[in-house]
Amino acid sequence: MNGPLEGPGESPGHAPGTPAQTITESIGERVRRGRRGRPPISDYRAAFHAAQLPMAIVGRDGLVRSANRALGTLLGVRAETLAAVPVAELAGIAPDQHARRACHEVLCGRSDRMSSTSRLKHADGHTLWADVALTPTSRGGEALLTVADASERHDLQERLRHLQMHDPVTRLPNRALFFERLATALGESATGRVGLCYLDLDGFKAVNDTFGHRAGDELLCAVARRLAGCAEDGEGRGHLVARLGGDEFALLVESSAGTEQLSSLAEAVQAELRKPFDLNGSRLAVSASIGVVEREAAHTGPTELMQAADTTLYWAKADGRDRWTLFDPERNAHRMTRQELASTLRGAIERDEFTLEYQPIVGFEDETLRGVEALVRWRHPRFGTLGPNRFIGLAEENGAIVQLGRWVLAESCRQARRWMDEHPGPPLFVSVNVAVRQVWDSDLVADVREILRETGLPSGLLQLELTESAVMGSGGRPLEALHALSDMGVRIAIDDFGTGYSNLAYLSRLPVRVLKLDGTFVQGFRTARHSNPADETIVAALVQLAHKLGLTVTAECVEGQAQADRLRRIGCDTGQGWHYAKPMAPEYIDKLLH
Ligand code: C2E
Ligand code: MG
Ligand code: MG
Repeated sequence: MNGPLEGPGESPGHAPGTPAQTITESIGERVRRGRRGRPPISDYRAAFHAAQLPMAIVGRDGLVRSANRALGTLLGVRAETLAAVPVAELAGIAPDQHARRACHEVLCGRSDRMSSTSRLKHADGHTLWADVALTPTSRGGEALLTVADASERHDLQERLRHLQMHDPVTRLPNRALFFERLATALGESATGRVGLCYLDLDGFKAVNDTFGHRAGDELLCAVARRLAGCAEDGEGRGHLVARLGGDEFALLVESSAGTEQLSSLAEAVQAELRKPFDLNGSRLAVSASIGVVEREAAHTGPTELMQAADTTLYWAKADGRDRWTLFDPERNAHRMTRQELASTLRGAIERDEFTLEYQPIVGFEDETLRGVEALVRWRHPRFGTLGPNRFIGLAEENGAIVQLGRWVLAESCRQARRWMDEHPGPPLFVSVNVAVRQVWDSDLVADVREILRETGLPSGLLQLELTESAVMGSGGRPLEALHALSDMGVRIAIDDFGTGYSNLAYLSRLPVRVLKLDGTFVQGFRTARHSNPADETIVAALVQLAHKLGLTVTAECVEGQAQADRLRRIGCDTGQGWHYAKPMAPEYIDKLLH
């Protein structure tokens, strides 16, 4: 390997016919170069210092032995002051772990080249970019550092990149840059939440058509400036504002503090855009529709977020424009074809996407907690939390209800047993909804027996809710099942009683112990003044009859004090509804038990 202090081993001879003086000089030279034909070290030193290429000789210890003038000039210092400076610092690679290691490899002779493009600091403070290379010289483990100024090329690349990543009309970041930043914000190491306001001007096409494209572009620029103003945090930094195309813009909130922050941002944007625009002497009123989405960064992909934003923007437009709309998983799920939900339903049980909430069932007499109804929810990764009305029907149709029902049963019995163990006093019963198909298509009796055995829950603490249609006219297998369960000590309740055409006398001959009066009955009782006396008479009669037949009555959907008072007076035994508590996570039932 050739270095500046060693030089090539060439031996310049002279051509025949060279003038004598030159021959003499060249002989003199040769003498000075010594017997092996090498130039003296002082020549190389002179060449090194006179070279245009910025260079330095680096010792094995990584410190600069000597730097040439060009390097001094590049960095705006005198070359001598660079001696003893660590090479990594000098070459601007100190913060770059990888480059530092490569540097070290060269210095200890394990590698014969290290190169990187680094950022250097000029003495006057400005930064410059350079192609830095370190190669060993053969002597004593020293190495040669070359530092070629690459600032121009780098600036050019930056300018090109800027052009590629920005919209020429508004000079805002374009779609490409937006997606790059979004991908980073949602990337693997992302934590926290990410928010997006996705905005579309209302009636922009009309502006273009009426005033021409020139005016349209001017309007877009003016809008862009106002958006940028809204996105600033007052310290020159702020959220990314991008033009995604046409009259669509996006504000990306890379660390969102919550939906409130986003909705106030959306409101600020709308307020700002509602102020009139002056274009070539014309006053223009503009409005925008905004879709607002907020998600946990770690569990969201860019496509998913953009789809949600797109849907939400569509809602804002459909709801009458000039408004912002927050993404609503329920509303979104409505849009989803049943097919889409049904196809992910089975796997969802294995993926552990279901949870149970429990709604207190309270005794009317003393208002004490007697039991809880287990209500299933689906934490859908794309659509958010879905209520049972979204998917129980589907699960019944495709048979997934059998597996889901078994999970609900096991989980609620396990939870009830936990409450029994952890809290002294009369234990809570748990009431579990059972779908018709579970009675027909699975061995419900065997499942219940197995689950009670496994969880150790006394059978008297389990109540199963079936609908009228599941038990009415049931002969054969379902009836056998009801008897077997009842014999086991499990209580059978009729859910949503009153919505079907059950014959109470017939029901009482089945092993049924509880009627759950449907919410529609209770609705007529809402306030003292607006109650319908006919309703009250019917319910009172129903309750009396039920009691005569040995059934207990639970009123569903008790929403107010007046309703509760009336239901108590009429003789209902227990009640359930928002007046007492909404369905809640099991931890909150723990708190109630305390
Ligand atoms: P349900 O068995 O009649 O459950 C009562 C429903 O009324 C629950 O709705 C509950 O949140 C709601 N509710 C409770 N208190 C009030 C109130 O004061 N006012 C009003 N307006 N509503 C109240 P949810 O949780 O949406 O459940 C809907 C239905 O889905 C349930 O009706 C039940 O039939 C079914 N379901 C829930 N979990 C399961 C399950 O694990 N298996 C099966 N097969 N069905 C289930
Ligand atoms: Mg129920
Ligand atoms: Mg019900």
